[in-house]
Amino acid sequence: MMDMTGQPIVMALTKGRILEEVMPLLAETGIHLLEDHKKSRKLIFDTNVAGLRIMIVRGSDVPTYVEFGSADIGVVGKDLLMEYGEDAFYEPLDLGIARCRLMTAAPVGAPAPRGRVKVASKFVNIARRYFAEQGLQTDIIKLNGALELAPSMGLADWIVDIVDSGNTLRANGLEPLQTIAHISSRVIVNKASMKMKHNAVSGLLKELGDVVVNRSESRVPIS
Ligand code: AMP
Repeated sequence: MMDMTGQPIVMALTKGRILEEVMPLLAETGIHLLEDHKKSRKLIFDTNVAGLRIMIVRGSDVPTYVEFGSADIGVVGKDLLMEYGEDAFYEPLDLGIARCRLMTAAPVGAPAPRGRVKVASKFVNIARRYFAEQGLQTDIIKLNGALELAPSMGLADWIVDIVDSGNTLRANGLEPLQTIAHISSRVIVNKASMKMKHNAVSGLLKELGDVVVNRSESRVPIS
């Protein structure tokens, strides 16, 4: 059984889709919440590992908790890390879960917009950087959800959004254009915690890393 070697650790997990994929991964390392998070309104939970507590928050808040050290470790999508700025913490492990792509999309068959392109996204920093690299003049418009509506409502020519199967885009008359980045969930670590709580943090990273390696090895077909 893992122990935190006397160093209390707080881990911040992203609620929703990532949480549903990260819980089985934690279970493989032997970590369980002492309560069912689905039946509780609590936001922070004790675990069966002494000294390890797990908080469950919005993905966009995970980097903030970890940067400022309220959480020592976090699990969050690469999209949100790219948007937040990636120098604020260490990113030692790709969990390979909640895979998707960050893409540009436009109405099916729409002609290329002339002049400045209006782009709606939750990911305004990523979008600004990407289109600047492409040398394209854009006006970036921040939305917090239901991005797929923006083109048909005349707010934007294109959107930048997360795409998995592409069903959401298709259902709204949109088609994917370019892939900006391949996304998966990453483990991030507070910089001070990496030093001050080295034994506990590196023990946890090792356990998680072993699960990821085992999973990827079991996917390799045996010839
Ligand atoms: P899909 O219709 O399968 O392309 O899924 C697209 C929608 O599901 C997006 O608008 C996202 O909000 C959400 N989504 C899909 N995959 C992920 C993921 N790995 N992480 C977060 N959101 C996702």
